Amino acid sequence: MKMIVPAYYLLRSAWALVFGFLVGGAVAAADEGMFPVSEIGRLDLRARGLELSAEDIFNADRPCLIDAICRVNGCTGAFVSPEGLLITNHHCAYGAIQTLSNPEHDYLANGFLACHRGEELPAPGYTVRITESFEDVSAKVLSVVTPNMNFAERTRAIQRQQRALEQEAETRYPGRRAEVAEMFVGERYVLFVYVNVKDVRLVFAPPSSIGNFGGDIDNWEWPRHTGDFSFMRAYVAPDGSPAEYSTENVPFRPKRYLPVNPRGTQENDVVMLLGYPGRTARHNTASFLSYEEKVRLPFIVESYAWQIANLQRAGAGDRAVELKLASRIKSLANTEKRSRGQLQGLQRLRFAERRAAEERDLQAFIDADPQRREKYGRLFDEIGAVYAEMSQRAPVELGLRQLIAASPMMGLAHFLVEAVHERQKPTVERERGFGDNVFAQTRERFVLSQKDFHPPSDREALAYTLQGLSRVPGDLLPRRLREIVASAESIHQLLDDVYQSSEIHRVEFVDQTIALKPEQLKEIRDPFVRLALDLYPDLLEMRERDKEREGRLNRAYGDLFAVKREFYTQTSGRILVPDANGTLRLTIGRVEGYRPADAIYKAPFTTVRGLLAKSTGHEPFAAPSRVAELYAARDFGTYQKDDLQDVPVAMLYSTDTTGGNSGSPVINARGELVGVNFDRTFEATINDFAWDHGYSRSIGVDIRFVLWITEKVYGAAHLIEEMGVNRD
Ligand code: ASP
Repeated sequence: MKMIVPAYYLLRSAWALVFGFLVGGAVAAADEGMFPVSEIGRLDLRARGLELSAEDIFNADRPCLIDAICRVNGCTGAFVSPEGLLITNHHCAYGAIQTLSNPEHDYLANGFLACHRGEELPAPGYTVRITESFEDVSAKVLSVVTPNMNFAERTRAIQRQQRALEQEAETRYPGRRAEVAEMFVGERYVLFVYVNVKDVRLVFAPPSSIGNFGGDIDNWEWPRHTGDFSFMRAYVAPDGSPAEYSTENVPFRPKRYLPVNPRGTQENDVVMLLGYPGRTARHNTASFLSYEEKVRLPFIVESYAWQIANLQRAGAGDRAVELKLASRIKSLANTEKRSRGQLQGLQRLRFAERRAAEERDLQAFIDADPQRREKYGRLFDEIGAVYAEMSQRAPVELGLRQLIAASPMMGLAHFLVEAVHERQKPTVERERGFGDNVFAQTRERFVLSQKDFHPPSDREALAYTLQGLSRVPGDLLPRRLREIVASAESIHQLLDDVYQSSEIHRVEFVDQTIALKPEQLKEIRDPFVRLALDLYPDLLEMRERDKEREGRLNRAYGDLFAVKREFYTQTSGRILVPDANGTLRLTIGRVEGYRPADAIYKAPFTTVRGLLAKSTGHEPFAAPSRVAELYAARDFGTYQKDDLQDVPVAMLYSTDTTGGNSGSPVINARGELVGVNFDRTFEATINDFAWDHGYSRSIGVDIRFVLWITEKVYGAAHLIEEMGVNRD
């Protein structure tokens, strides 16, 4: 990896929020902090228990640990062999496993193992990215903002400049993918350049009875007994350049891969994770937290629970339909339960109130100095006004978003309309996903979704959303939508029309429509596209409002970071770490249990014995019989944890993670792979708003279980050998 420009802000040690959570002021053995790559050199890694230097993890001039870490769609993965073999979660490979499954070849139910390279199956829609370089471009991004711009113009100017910088970088580094990430809203922007591998294949996925053991019941819970791992392989053209799938392609040779330590880890060991955490909102204001608690999360919980039930009903008794809908159900259920955890945490811990108290201190600091007061005095009011307006308009805005999200067919129709309009603009002016460099990938994602269309449940979802919108006060509803939802009959008639004669399920229709000009699109007869076209002005109006808000928040949060830094420097010495934003981060913690409630202690390892005790023989608790047989014979190979006299299944540790860290390698103090991260505990769902040592625990599958399942249960000794695992 190459670092182009030095780090941009200082982090020596991080801080721990002491909330006096249920444990009552636990002593922090780990720290909050998803540290950007640029900051690794500034951390005292020895003091944190690592036996690695910063250069071992990140080095501009020679291979380093970071070269072994990749992003696998929205998840993380790690290379474990010189031949592009990578490990990630079963739930991260789930989309591929589902797409490749049918009732005859049911890889979700039975698992999949390629016995040699020729049997590895292309994973449609999957890409693997490796961070190659980064550069601070804050000054360039913000240089386009002028004082007389209105807020929507400000947002547009920043976005245009981000795209332009990405385009320039992709010209400078041919074959690479570039992205400008917002590290601190309105303040810090970093350009990341990625190697983007486009041929990814499935190598080994255990059956769901291992990879998804416990299903949604156990998801976000501890104790856990899920073998949530899969192996994939990245392929490139024979000359080493990224290329679409071809039989000519050869395994990608990463600059570095992780050695696997089959001895795993022990309680209290230091562990670190490298990965691509998605989104956190730790710096957002109390007014934002209230919006989440009172408005958005309750809406999501209710809507997603309904959608899950709808899809489950549709798949009951028909395995082909069940397979089509499996991936969506899983992802909806994941978000629904996480949102429930967050809602409960926000309410129980009174987060908004706590943050408001912190803000009062900051306000007092601002008010104490006339200049500061002049500049920042109304900051919280300005931010609060944006969230108040969002709350007021939420019934219609959340409903409109759901219209596209809950019905994949409507989602595709909207995409077609948007593609036709966006592609009229110069590429840097377009919305994300529509630029010339990424459009093919966006199209592929939508075309792949066609395979899983299921019109009856899709219709139910659209009806549910429209009925919900019909209850919104009329003055909030935009014009066309108001007509559509005017009566139960009008909704019904529309749905009859739309689902009877649309061609939206045909790939050729998609490509023909994308190629149209806006004037030609107006002539189109397809009822689904017509509906999307009808609603497009309403959606554009909402987007314009979003841009206006984003511009306001961009300026206000930029100011908030500036004054917060001043405040911390003069008071606690606390340091600002940027929120997760899908870019590469390091987090360090320990293998340790926790106390979620009075008199309850949760220990950090689970075992095969525990897995079998939980196994009822009924999904999702139906461990394969081979697991019980090997356990009865105590055939643990070299993977036993001696103090447990068993193979450890999952483990708990105090790192700082969020969604996107799924599949992150759990690495020991010497840089060896000891597990694969896949979840957090229920209490830790609130992590996205504030980390705390008392409740923030991540969950990983223990490497010993991974190896035991791979070698002993499914006989994939060739993979164990490829990884060079020492079995003595
Ligand atoms: N299981 C989680 C997810 O997929 C990972 C996490 O959020 O910690 O979202």
